[in-house]
Amino acid sequence: MIVILKHDHNPDQLDSLVAWLQEKGIAIHTSIGEANTILGLVGDTSKLDIDLIAALDIVEDVKRVQEPYKNANRKFHPEDTVIQVGNTQIGGGNLTIMAGPCSVESEEHVVAIAKAVKASGATMLRGGAFKPRTSPYAFQGLHEEGIRLLLEAKAATGLPIVTEIMNTEHIPLFEDVDMIQVGARNMQNFELLKELGHLKTPVLLKRGLSSTIEEFLMSAEYIMAGGNENVVLCERGIRTFEPSMRNTLDISAVPMLKSRTHLPVVVDPSHAAGIAWMVEPLAMAAIAAGADGLMIEVHNDPPHAKSDGAQSLTPAQFAALMEKVNGAAAFFGETLAV
Ligand code: PEP
Ligand code: MN
Repeated sequence: MIVILKHDHNPDQLDSLVAWLQEKGIAIHTSIGEANTILGLVGDTSKLDIDLIAALDIVEDVKRVQEPYKNANRKFHPEDTVIQVGNTQIGGGNLTIMAGPCSVESEEHVVAIAKAVKASGATMLRGGAFKPRTSPYAFQGLHEEGIRLLLEAKAATGLPIVTEIMNTEHIPLFEDVDMIQVGARNMQNFELLKELGHLKTPVLLKRGLSSTIEEFLMSAEYIMAGGNENVVLCERGIRTFEPSMRNTLDISAVPMLKSRTHLPVVVDPSHAAGIAWMVEPLAMAAIAAGADGLMIEVHNDPPHAKSDGAQSLTPAQFAALMEKVNGAAAFFGETLAV
């Protein structure tokens, strides 16, 4: 971290800033120039409050030269992390396809979709049991029963399951879940992230609707700081000024995230687009950008889906998409996870 002091700074105030930093184990390299004095802070600056320092009378500006996240940082962990989820892996050159309905609706429904997506090459089943809906009058999910039905679908197909949690009190219900999803709306639910940090269960962390890449990585850091290193990031589109799509898929976030972190990065083109026909081109773009996987919503009868029918592919459309995914993966040197 670099602290630029005001030209006419008070030396006593500087002494107390230096003493305060040294107490925190930070070494200081001072460089006195004609116009400005600059302090180079060396050590673990991740716990320093940059806004507090910037607000001091004697400080002109503060700049971080090191990212505030450590566990997630590729600088300290250059190799890609590969995360084992049930019998499949995410990261390290594997392209993992997670597919399934937006919401779990019934046993028959989720088992049929699980069988269909597995037949087309998906290696994980997604499905929401607890649904974060904009309207309190919209379908809220089957809750505990939804998780039970996902486990039935897992028993029928062998596919590991990923499903969303919204509340720390529900953690015991997720004991047999292979991967716990934190949805976009909860990306900064820090109490939830801290609790998930105490588990070993892999976490699929989705990017918040208006979150920066750094905020996204700081949320991953919350989970990892608690000891759970099994975090997969999911770019699912962000809110921009463009109303034609549900969200705007931030495809540039994929290579940027992968340069900053060793964690796997998957893309959810379904929630990014909000429109079924756009899922395929966005999925192709995600593979080209280096994504480690895709999360795709599939429903056997989209017009009658309890949620997100407009963006859901039918099993036949999903099968056609998977043909293209296979071709794109081969072209970009990725191996489809098995
Ligand atoms: C979902 O995956 O079901 C979901 C609600 O997604 P998001 O949190 O990205 O909106
Ligand atoms: Mn959905």
